[in-house]
Amino acid sequence: MTALERTALVRELSAIVGPRHVIHRPEDLLVYEYDAAVDRALPDLVVLPATTDQVVRLVKVAARERLPVVPRGAGTGLSGGSVPVKGGITIVLSRMRRLIEVDVPNRLAVVEPGVVNVELSRAAAPHGLLYAPDPSSQLVCTIGGNVAENSGGPHTLKYGTTTNHVLGLEVVLPDGEVLALGSATGFAPGYDLVGAVVGSEGTTGIVTSATLRLVPIPERVETLLAIFADVVSACRTVGAVIESGLVPAAMEIVDQRTIAAVEASVYAAGLPTDAGAVLLVELDGPAVALPPQLERIRALAAREGALRVEVARDADERARFWRARKGAFGAMGRLAPDLYVHDAVVPRARLPEVLAAVCAIGDRHGLRLSNVFHAGDGNLHPNISFDRRNPGELERVLAAGAEILRTCVDAGGVISGEHGIGSEKRDFMGMVFGEADLDAMRRLRAAFDPDGVCNPGKILPTPRFCAEANPQARGYDRVPFA
Ligand SMILES: Cc1cc2nc3c(=O)[nH]c(=O)nc-3n(C[C@H](O)[C@H](O)[C@H](O)COP(=O)(O)OP(=O)(O)OC[C@H]3O[C@@H](n4cnc5c(N)ncnc54)[C@H](O)[C@@H]3O)c2cc1C
Repeated sequence: MTALERTALVRELSAIVGPRHVIHRPEDLLVYEYDAAVDRALPDLVVLPATTDQVVRLVKVAARERLPVVPRGAGTGLSGGSVPVKGGITIVLSRMRRLIEVDVPNRLAVVEPGVVNVELSRAAAPHGLLYAPDPSSQLVCTIGGNVAENSGGPHTLKYGTTTNHVLGLEVVLPDGEVLALGSATGFAPGYDLVGAVVGSEGTTGIVTSATLRLVPIPERVETLLAIFADVVSACRTVGAVIESGLVPAAMEIVDQRTIAAVEASVYAAGLPTDAGAVLLVELDGPAVALPPQLERIRALAAREGALRVEVARDADERARFWRARKGAFGAMGRLAPDLYVHDAVVPRARLPEVLAAVCAIGDRHGLRLSNVFHAGDGNLHPNISFDRRNPGELERVLAAGAEILRTCVDAGGVISGEHGIGSEKRDFMGMVFGEADLDAMRRLRAAFDPDGVCNPGKILPTPRFCAEANPQARGYDRVPFA
C-alpha cells in the first residue's frame, strides 16, 4: 500500500467509526502487536467500531482492499490469536460493551462482544444468577474473546467451557453478511453452526452479539485448601476425588515455585512457601449436601498425605485462597520479563507422571518452569519464565515447549485445553490430527471465509509445514524485546 492509498483508507475508515477510533500512527499501533503469548506482529491499521453496522462496513472495505481482518477483544489471549501475523486491519471490539438484556425468567443474557466477563456475573448477581465460565483473566477478558477461544476457567470441571453456555450468536462474515446462529431456547435444528464458531479463534467471522446461559448462584459454597509436601500427592488426591464420584466445582493445583512467586507478590495469600504444592477444591450446591462432601474430600486428602487441610471460614478467606490461584500468572511477572504459558490436557490419571516429565524437560533445558493448573480437568499450565534478551533463551523455551506438547500427546492428551491454538501452536496441530482431519477443518473454515482473510495464519498449519521450534522460521528473530 502506498502512503497515498493508506491516507485514503484512513479517511474512509474514519468516516465509518469516527477519526478518534482509527489508529494509524506507528507508535500507537505498537500496542496492538502483542497479546499475552510470544508472537508479535504489527497491524497496518486498528479500528474500534461501536455497532454491528460499522463492523459490516469495515469488513467490506477490508474485503475490497484484500486486507486481512483480525478481531481483538482485550488481547489477553495466550496463543497469539489476536496478533496480526499477516498484517491487515485489527478490529477491536472493546467499544461494543452493551449488556443488552438480562432475561431472568429464561435465565439468559444478551451481550455485545466487548463486555468484560466478570461484568456479566456482576449484572446477573442481583437476580440470583451468574455466568459460569470464569477464566482467571475474567477481570479484563471479553465475552467475544471467550467465545472465540471457547474459554474455560477453574469452574469448567463442573460447568463446562464457554461452548456449554452459548445459546446464540450474531456473526459478521468477512464479506459483510450477518448471520444469526442458534436460538435463545437452546434448541436449533440443522447443523450446529454456533458450535463451529465457538472456539474458531476469529477465523470464521466477527461475533457482534452473544446470547448466553446464566445459572443460579449456588445456595452454598465451600472452599478447601489442602497442603502437600509434593505435587504428586496433590495430583493423586484429584484422581481419588473424581474416582469417589464427587464432582467439585473446581480443583486447582499450585506448585511450590508458583507459591513462592505468589507469596512475594501483591497477590500474597499466606500460603506456606515450604509446601510442595497446594490443592484448592471448591464445592457448590444445596447447603445440606456440602458438609458430607467436604469431609469426604478432607479424608481423601489425608489418605494421600496432605500435611494440613484448611476450610475457608467466610467469603474473605475464600477470596484469599482464590487470590493465590487467580493472581499466579500476574505474580510470574516478578520472575522474568517474559512468560510462556502452555495449556496441554492429559488424562487425569496420568497427571503425576506427566508433571514429573514436564519438570524434567524444564530442568534439562535449564529453564525456570512452574505449574499452576486446572487439575480436575487434567489441564496443565506449565509456565516458563524467561528473558528473550538472553541469547539462545527463546530457542530453548520453544524447544522445551515442543517437548512438553509431545509428552502430553504421547500420554493420550491434546495440545490445548482452553487457550486455543492461535499462531503459537498452529504448527503442532499435526501431533493430534491427521491430514484428512485438518483438511475437513480447512473446508469448514472456507465455508465461512472462502478468501481466507479472517484472522489468517491461525489454527491451521500450512501444508508441508517444517518450522517446528525454529524461531527464525517463525519470525521471532524480528521482534527483540528490548
Ligand atoms: C493472566 C491470564 C489468565 C488467563 N486465564 C485463563 C483461564 O483460566 N481460562 C482460559 O480459557 N483462558 C485464560 N486466559 C486466556 C485469555 O484470557 C482467554 O483466551 C480470553 O478468552 C481472551 O479474551 P480477550 O478478550 O482477551 O481476547 P483476545 O486475546 O483479544 O482474542 C482472543 C481470540 O479471540 C478472537 N476474538 C476476540 N474477539 C472476537 C470477536 N468479537 N469475534 C470473533 N473473534 C474474536 C481473536 O481474534 C483471538 O483469536 C488467561 C490469560 C491471562 C493473561
